Amino acid sequence: MSAPMTPDREQIRAEVDRLRARVAELEAQHAAALALHRTYDDSAHCVADDEPWPCTTRTALGQSAPALTEDPHDGPLHHSYAVGRDLPEADPARCHRDGGAS
Ligand SMILES: [Zn+2]
Repeated sequence: MSAPMTPDREQIRAEVDRLRARVAELEAQHAAALALHRTYDDSAHCVADDEPWPCTTRTALGQSAPALTEDPHDGPLHHSYAVGRDLPEADPARCHRDGGAS
């Protein structure tokens, strides 16, 4: 009996690249469709299909462009935050020695 076939690292990378390219392609198509379906300046109807605003296409696509995704954790704008539980435990003796009235 042989082990089930598992994709190797190169196959996974190729698939990730292919899917990222597909997502970019679909986001571009979505943005192009959103740009076509807009109101006339002087009427609440869609320029592309003359339906009352919001037209069925615009409703199906959503009113706005896709939400921005979170900045990746290795991105240049990433900032890690420390919360209380990440901080070292307070040392009461040291607080007494360094702070307060003496
Ligand atoms: Zn429309």
